[in-house]
Amino acid sequence: MHHAGRIHSLETFGTVDGPGIRFVLFMQGCALQCAYCHNPDSWDTKGGQLRSVDEILAEIEPYVPFYKRSGGGITVTGGEPTLQAPFVAELFEKCKERWGLHTALDSSGFCDPYHAKRLLDATDLVLLDLKMIDRAGHEHLTLQPNDRILAFARHLSDAGAKMWIRRVLVPGWTDGLSELLALGEFIGELNGVEKVEVLPYHRMGVYKWEQLGRAYRLEGVSEPSPDEVERAYRLIEQGKRAAKAAR
Ligand code: SF4
Repeated sequence: MHHAGRIHSLETFGTVDGPGIRFVLFMQGCALQCAYCHNPDSWDTKGGQLRSVDEILAEIEPYVPFYKRSGGGITVTGGEPTLQAPFVAELFEKCKERWGLHTALDSSGFCDPYHAKRLLDATDLVLLDLKMIDRAGHEHLTLQPNDRILAFARHLSDAGAKMWIRRVLVPGWTDGLSELLALGEFIGELNGVEKVEVLPYHRMGVYKWEQLGRAYRLEGVSEPSPDEVERAYRLIEQGKRAAKAAR
């Protein structure tokens, strides 16, 4: 079956979303409304451009040698890519069949694992954003609860998936002492986590909120310093060690 996908944009030379040099496909549509989102124009599930799997494969093809030589591959992000799971599954399957490309799925985890089963079978690495462990804090930040996301993380762990866990560090929002320890503890209880990345909050997408006429909720929040990022790594590590010791 051939699926069309709603695409927000693409990048042919991505270096921050998974290992090596990567083709990065941004899918349209997201059900969260993270206060720090730098792509609020990707939320509308009816926006973007409809493209076929074959059209995307043709975009990837010229660069395949670069991706392979660098130990890279393809990353599908968003928006939220699991909202279009059948399209992404077909794309990943074809990338593997044709070129043996490494596939990474960058997801908020706001997804029913059974809905994404075929997609997960074709995924080599999940980049999972754990935005907040604290339930109320998560709802405040994203306007959605996090139960489904934490359940998705546990499902990946049980299914033997490889994961990189990511946390966007927003001073005063996602960087509290107990929150970062709890994140570390949660990660320490999972299998398959190969890496933890703290991504400093940045303000590069603020102009998009203005263009869309949306009120930006992080007005006045500054980007974290290298020391604050370092502290976050330390606290997460401390939480992980505590969880591992208790296992
Ligand atoms: S999950 Fe990603 S795309 Fe969706 S609102 Fe949050 S940051 Fe934006």
